[in-house]
Amino acid sequence: MGPDNPSGPAGGDLFAAGGEAGRIMAAFDWASTSVGPVESWPASLRFAVRTVLVSRFPMLLTWGPDQLQFYNDAFAPVIGAKHPAIGQDIRRVLAESWGTVGPPIEHAMATLEASWLPELPVLLERSGYREETYFTVSHAPAFDDDGQVAGMHAVCTEVTGQVLSERRQRLLHALSTVGGRLGDEHETVSAMCRTLEGAPLDVPFAAVYLSSPGEHAFRRVAAVGCDPDAFPRSVADGGDELLARVRRLGVIGGPYGDQVTEAAALPLHTTRDADPIGLLVLGKSPNRAMDAEYSTFNELVAGQFAGAVANIRAFETERLRAETLAELDRAKTTFFSDVSHELRTPLTLLLGPLGDVLDDDQPLPEDVRAQLSLAMRNGQRLQRLVNDLLDFASIEAGRATPIRVRADVATFTAELAGIFRSAAERAGLRLTVDCPPLPRPAFVDPRMWEKIVVNLLANAVKYTFVGGIDVTLRADDDGFTLAVADTGVGIVAEELPRLFQRFQRVTGAAARTREGSGIGLAMVQELAGLHGGTAAVSSEPGRGSTFAVTLPYGAPDAEPTTPEVGPSEAARGEAASWEAASREDDIPRPRGEGTGPTGGASVLVVDDNADMRAYLARLLGPLWSVRTTADGAEALAAVAERQPDLVLTDVMMPRIDGFELLRALRADPATRHIPVIMLTARAGQEASVEGLEAGADDYLAKPFRAAELLARVRVALERAAGRTPTPLEPAAPGPAAVSYTHLKLPTKRLV
Ligand code: ADP
Repeated sequence: MGPDNPSGPAGGDLFAAGGEAGRIMAAFDWASTSVGPVESWPASLRFAVRTVLVSRFPMLLTWGPDQLQFYNDAFAPVIGAKHPAIGQDIRRVLAESWGTVGPPIEHAMATLEASWLPELPVLLERSGYREETYFTVSHAPAFDDDGQVAGMHAVCTEVTGQVLSERRQRLLHALSTVGGRLGDEHETVSAMCRTLEGAPLDVPFAAVYLSSPGEHAFRRVAAVGCDPDAFPRSVADGGDELLARVRRLGVIGGPYGDQVTEAAALPLHTTRDADPIGLLVLGKSPNRAMDAEYSTFNELVAGQFAGAVANIRAFETERLRAETLAELDRAKTTFFSDVSHELRTPLTLLLGPLGDVLDDDQPLPEDVRAQLSLAMRNGQRLQRLVNDLLDFASIEAGRATPIRVRADVATFTAELAGIFRSAAERAGLRLTVDCPPLPRPAFVDPRMWEKIVVNLLANAVKYTFVGGIDVTLRADDDGFTLAVADTGVGIVAEELPRLFQRFQRVTGAAARTREGSGIGLAMVQELAGLHGGTAAVSSEPGRGSTFAVTLPYGAPDAEPTTPEVGPSEAARGEAASWEAASREDDIPRPRGEGTGPTGGASVLVVDDNADMRAYLARLLGPLWSVRTTADGAEALAAVAERQPDLVLTDVMMPRIDGFELLRALRADPATRHIPVIMLTARAGQEASVEGLEAGADDYLAKPFRAAELLARVRVALERAAGRTPTPLEPAAPGPAAVSYTHLKLPTKRLV
């Protein structure tokens, strides 16, 4: 037969374009089959075979009553190890999956209706095991020369990879949804396992082991797909023993009923370097090879478990931490309130008798009166601090409720500001008060409002050295705003967000005094909050600060008991104390002659607290010539003007503190021999080491006894008189230590 033979190409030509499949067909003994020798094939078969062979898409043709197979090279991998199966009955070749593929083939041939089967699951034994595969297939009838159905054409493509990856992706997504819920660790892990239960084709069974606090081994918390007790309750190793057990288990997995004989044990890592927090055992499908995709999938599943557990644990740790902090906070508040209560009683018993003596008509010697007044003023200051702490503790504990009454806020505020006038003026500061009447009635708790105004003004006086303080009250539709603006030291931007937190103090800020507790602003904010208002600050270092408190007009909680509210005694006391702090010293000038060999020596006292300065001057005045300064900078100026024989300095002071002053004095050859005694409120090892290293001659902790201080000063002066300016001799032993902390200092000053 020639090429132009209408019945189709000759045998050799027919298979020529068919590659390996073509060669197999050419060599095949068709004569012994029901199809018969190639020469006898009808034209329809020839054309059909040719179409199959030239195609690069997987194609299969069956022909004749025995449904013998013709397929191309592209189709060979579909049947894997079964290839070559050309010339064989398709029903035998695909025996294991004929239940799935047979019916649509028979249907297409019987009805002439082509099938369309996307993602058809086919269990193929092409690689030595029953493999789960998916194909998108279409079967169509094949006709012989007479137009009768003689066979079947199948076009197919394997989509196993796609189907598996989509399915696994969905499972991972479901796991992450379930695992993302925070709550009980065991519940979450069990819920995740139940999610796995719905995916037996990828995870025939699973078991989760987790670490628990204080235990070395991992404990089993959940298992699915088999009897949980098939797994040990705990594992101490990496899971090898466990895996050996799996082999003995012989779980029947998946819908295909094959035995699961393999599993993977995956450590659950929170971070790459951390120790694992558990172990996940995942059974391996007997119908899939453990290829790269499968093992990546297992790792991702383990990642979901590790992530969920790590999140829950982190959240729990955070929750416990917050709880501990809250507990600590409550304890602190209780402690403050208890301590403050305890302090109140003795203070009352101190101040009462003092007040009685001072108020008594009996004339008192002037110096006794001065001493008692000093004690009184400081006792009152302590009382105010204690009261502040107590108030604050009760606000914190939620026990303080404002009792708002109708108040003339403008007048009241102006009066409160007014009581600071003399403190401001003594400090050389301008004070302007601009509080026009409010357009609407306002309701505030008078004592609370007073605290707000007094705190803000006291701070303004404390932190302002030049310029002035402007107090304004402004109204709008919703409420009114009190602004206290100063031209003081200002506050650096980083500190602003934390300024209203309790005990928050700006370190290193210059102030008229270091006195303070850091609760003033916290209290202002809490009090404003109790009135439904807010507190705010704006500030620029070196230029000043403006504190603003805005309150709504409010509604009354009670009728005012007194028609007019005015500043309380406490407020007056606070203002008076600031007056004292900013007062130039009215210290008795020293007498010319003192007693003893050091009489007539001069002592420079450096302390930021005006009362303390006055007290020291009064103590030392009768014996030596005393000058006082309020901080290190002033002290250095005073030394430059006239050298003292001894410097007695406080440690904590604004601007230049005691240590810096000491360093400056030691650094200058002209002043390095001047003996320095330091006074500090801080006791303990840390302070002593600091003082020692800085090279102070002596170091005295407050509170000290008057006689003790005098003895120390005398010893230091005598020593200095005998040695100036040779510094390397050992210090003479000080007086025996008594009831105060005394740190005798150093023999090794190398100046
Ligand atoms: P205290 O004054 O007792 O330290 P406060 O709560 O009143 O406590 O103030 C907290 C901190 O805010 C202060 O230590 C100070 O650093 C800063 N501060 C408050 N008011 C001013 C002001 N008017 N100017 C500059 N700094 C201020």
